[in-house]
Amino acid sequence: MILITGGAGYVGSHCVKELLSRGRDVVVFDSLDQGVREAVLSEDFVEGDLLRVEDLQRAFDRYEIDSVMHFAALASVGDSMRNPQRYYENNVIGTLNLLNAMREHGVKRLIFSSSAAVYGDPDLVPIPEDHRKLPKNPYGRTKWMMEQAMADYSQAYGVRYIALRYFNAAGCDPEGQLGENHDPEEHLIPIVLDVALGRRDEITIFGTDYDTPDGTCIRDYVHVNDLAVAHVLALDALGAGAESTAYNLGIGNGYSVREVIESCRRVTGIDIAVGEGERRPGDPAVLVADPTRAMRELRWQPHFTDLDEIVETAWRQRRSTVH
Ligand code: UDP
Repeated sequence: MILITGGAGYVGSHCVKELLSRGRDVVVFDSLDQGVREAVLSEDFVEGDLLRVEDLQRAFDRYEIDSVMHFAALASVGDSMRNPQRYYENNVIGTLNLLNAMREHGVKRLIFSSSAAVYGDPDLVPIPEDHRKLPKNPYGRTKWMMEQAMADYSQAYGVRYIALRYFNAAGCDPEGQLGENHDPEEHLIPIVLDVALGRRDEITIFGTDYDTPDGTCIRDYVHVNDLAVAHVLALDALGAGAESTAYNLGIGNGYSVREVIESCRRVTGIDIAVGEGERRPGDPAVLVADPTRAMRELRWQPHFTDLDEIVETAWRQRRSTVH
């Protein structure tokens, strides 16, 4: 059985859906602090918090767990700059508790949600996995710390892991069953779509003076379903004996904040109001993946390579939700 921490969250719930569609046995572990109960698609569910060791104990005692996918974490750059304590507690201590519970129960396979935020401002774009790691914000630092801790656990205790460094997870389940529901929402595409829906007055662009063609930050938006498939491929690679490693998951193309807003205008047909604001502390100017290793070694092939198509799936879901 696969334990999915954060299986009620955005990427975790999409991954649970992918696993269930392939007939895999999964149990979701989620505190429902960020996750939502309706997004738990598995029958097996433990409501628990990684910061309470007894909750983890309960999950590991109740189920025959042979591998773990670990999504449960806080994931907003701006929030991490304002509330680093929450990030270090949830993302670092929570993950250490999980690693220790796995060790105690002899569970030796782990897929970890990492992030492009581990790199900081890149010297080289597209960014290869062996690029220098100099995260610019507490969120990225927690992810990099945990990659290093996993490498140490792997070496000493024989746990094998694959860290998947997502660039910008985007889009939603094309069947409309699952969505992106952060509270408060700080991510670009859902905010822009909320402006289109009249739920916000405007989108504020954080910084228009970056050294990029239109002055706004460039990111690599990868569809959440493609991320989900990559997790299954990574788990199967571990099952086939792969060594511990990390992979970038992005499509290898960057879009500026202005281009994302333009895409949302095209998809929604609505003229979205835009304001210009200060840079958001902690933001690198450009993050674009070199995803060739995941493509070659995991045989991962992102299905969604067009930003409008990605935004379309997010739009279909977001306009159907009542706020
Ligand atoms: N962004 C923005 N206005 C917003 C939210 C985000 O201009 O209200 C920018 C942000 O500065 C970054 C990009 O959009 O350059 C993507 O941000 P997001 O938080 O979605 O993802 P991140 O890149 O932080 O993982």
